[in-house]
Amino acid sequence: MSELRPETRAVHLPRPVIKGSVPISVPIYQTSGFVFDDPEVFADGMSRPDGAFVYGRLSNPTVRSLEEAVAGLEGGVASVATASGMGAINSVLLGLLKPGDHLIAQKALYGGTAAMINDLASRFGIAVTHVPGDDPAALRAAVRPETRLVYLETIANPVCQVADLPAMCAAAKELGLVSVVDNTFASPILCRPLEHGADIVVHSTTKYLSGHTDVLGGIAVFAADELYRKVWHYAIELGSTPDPFAAWLTLRGMQTLPLRMERHCANTRVLATRLAGHPAVSAVHWPGLPTHASHEVAVKLMPEFGGVFSFDLAGGRAAGERFMSALKLALLAPSLGGVETLVLHPATTSHRSLSAEELARHGISEGTVRVAVGIEHAEDLWTDFAQALA
Ligand SMILES: *Cc1c(COP(=O)(O)O)cnc(C)c1O
Repeated sequence: MSELRPETRAVHLPRPVIKGSVPISVPIYQTSGFVFDDPEVFADGMSRPDGAFVYGRLSNPTVRSLEEAVAGLEGGVASVATASGMGAINSVLLGLLKPGDHLIAQKALYGGTAAMINDLASRFGIAVTHVPGDDPAALRAAVRPETRLVYLETIANPVCQVADLPAMCAAAKELGLVSVVDNTFASPILCRPLEHGADIVVHSTTKYLSGHTDVLGGIAVFAADELYRKVWHYAIELGSTPDPFAAWLTLRGMQTLPLRMERHCANTRVLATRLAGHPAVSAVHWPGLPTHASHEVAVKLMPEFGGVFSFDLAGGRAAGERFMSALKLALLAPSLGGVETLVLHPATTSHRSLSAEELARHGISEGTVRVAVGIEHAEDLWTDFAQALA
């Protein structure tokens, strides 16, 4: 059609099909849809996650690359990427539960998850019972005929209780329940819950997987195909799909995940160990310390113990606030898993919606400071902490 007018030529750009080579870096497929020669291939792609790419809310090649990469790291068969960690958690819980169902969740949960699970009970009639993440007997005792799912976190925020994944997932399996593990704090470098019997792993890829404090994202990874297809169908109805550019940033960050985790963990060991010996500090919560209640469980699951810890200042809330405003290098900010060291005060920020009783259930006191350790030089971080404590 060589006689086309400029108005038409401007619209219909050439779409190159690259022959004989592929780009080294995964391209950003910034398109909302795909073009077909064959209507049957088009229709088939709409009905399943592994057909042709059709429409961006269903799937996209950049997003698929991320899904395959994380499934590979976690040892799953497939995954569903989402626009945020909460998008992944909601897609899994709402995709698998219905009114009248019951779920068992561990006591200490990420703030957003805790709020969402409370909402499930009040708005959707999905009841919840909380049990400790390392107590399979409590899990068994909490089971009802309508129980469907067990929800755990590998390492919980902010005092770092570690779930006994082998024991809890084995109990769930025996009782016919689906087990879901939020592995955000450990990352697949430190722990792969599917290897310990979990059915589904969820992540906020906003944190360690992307690693640079510049993108939001989430993902759910599946041990088997059936649950994967169920959640994929629900996620595309919910519209929790990520943008290809967000997926691309996450992929780019993930290439250095093993190197970053090594430094996060080594820096945390230095800070946690030195703070444990400081007179202004009444307790340090990091599972790498033999004094931590979860140390024994953690040693069974992980070669190192993560880049997040918290500590209690003997001077309570006032001391906590003074410490945080005296820091010069570490930043007062939400989130974790990025290259910069961040601190926050859980009682007034991340966990502010919890009652006094719920705060105690999470092991949080007025003087608790949470630290998300970055990849700076450990001695520079310690100099900053020491001057702020003084
Ligand atoms: C941040 C976080 C979430 C929520 O992820 P978003 O990307 O903020 O939606 C869920 N679980 C854990 C453990 C987190 O740290």
